Amino acid sequence: MKEKQDQHFGKLVVDFVNASTAEEAGSVFIGGAAAAFGFGSGFLEQALGRYPTLRLFEDALSAGDRELVGLLLEERGLLSVINNLPCNISLASYDYDGDKVLTFKIQPLEPKWDREDPYEEDVLQVPVGTGGKAWLEEVAEMFDDRAPLSTDMDEVKEKLLACMGEFVELGDRILAIRSVLPPERTHEAQKMAAFYISIQAEQEVLAELLERWRMILDEIIAAETLSRNHVLLDLLLVYNMVNRRELAVGEDGAFYEKPIFEQSYFTERAGLADEYYHNVLVYALFEFLRAKGNRDKLRGCPDCKTFFIAGPRRAKGMKCSRCAKKKGRGTRDEA
Ligand SMILES: [Zn+2]
Repeated sequence: MKEKQDQHFGKLVVDFVNASTAEEAGSVFIGGAAAAFGFGSGFLEQALGRYPTLRLFEDALSAGDRELVGLLLEERGLLSVINNLPCNISLASYDYDGDKVLTFKIQPLEPKWDREDPYEEDVLQVPVGTGGKAWLEEVAEMFDDRAPLSTDMDEVKEKLLACMGEFVELGDRILAIRSVLPPERTHEAQKMAAFYISIQAEQEVLAELLERWRMILDEIIAAETLSRNHVLLDLLLVYNMVNRRELAVGEDGAFYEKPIFEQSYFTERAGLADEYYHNVLVYALFEFLRAKGNRDKLRGCPDCKTFFIAGPRRAKGMKCSRCAKKKGRGTRDEA
């Protein structure tokens, strides 16, 4: 069992990097960790059951909440579009269920040296009221007064006004649904929307990590001299930081060495998502690489870019098993 552990570590890294989506990468990561660290089957069920995936979100979302959650997410998306316009004006809040007032924050075009914080944003409120689009004109006026004067700002203004119209309308629709729901259902929908947003954020991190790790493996496979490879040396620093043996004492007074990654690391995740994955991947990579001959077995298929660990029967194979098979028998890759 022990001599195979390095292979499990290698597989954890390779399977993660080969994942076709961020969603898949997350699940593969948990499965790979379970195998590499030798956690039991109960662990896998528990960790995967809590692991935030879009599938878990879909399963947990009740049909009755679907519409409201959808609108809340649309609202959130629109807010992000508005606040990412190349413009000094951002929308801080809109209390559609209260006084119906839009609160904007405006970065001053020039620093105001007479203020304690010369760059402090101005706050400007625009009441939406109950009828008509007068408020939209007020927003347009605010833009004309406060945004920089340049021709390309016309487009930004147009976009802002269109988004604001949509945003306020969305608020009305959310309010209409909320008004017939008990407050706890609204609360539940808000929780689900927040859950979805956290999954999305997690998957953005994973997508970035996937890209980074593909580059890392390419680099390590291609490196001529490992001892002078900066990508590898930087990762080694991380490994040496992570790889700290800790001695603990149990209830029975016996001393034991704490595992570097305990099961709770994967079931009760905390801290930065980026490091959460990266540290385990780095640890696994070096636990794999340090076993003699493993580095030469780590390969990237030139045809499909899949990474793989060549087994003893395919010691010379340069292509992944799938592409090697496609080429037919008798080739060198099939050896
Ligand atoms: Zn291939």
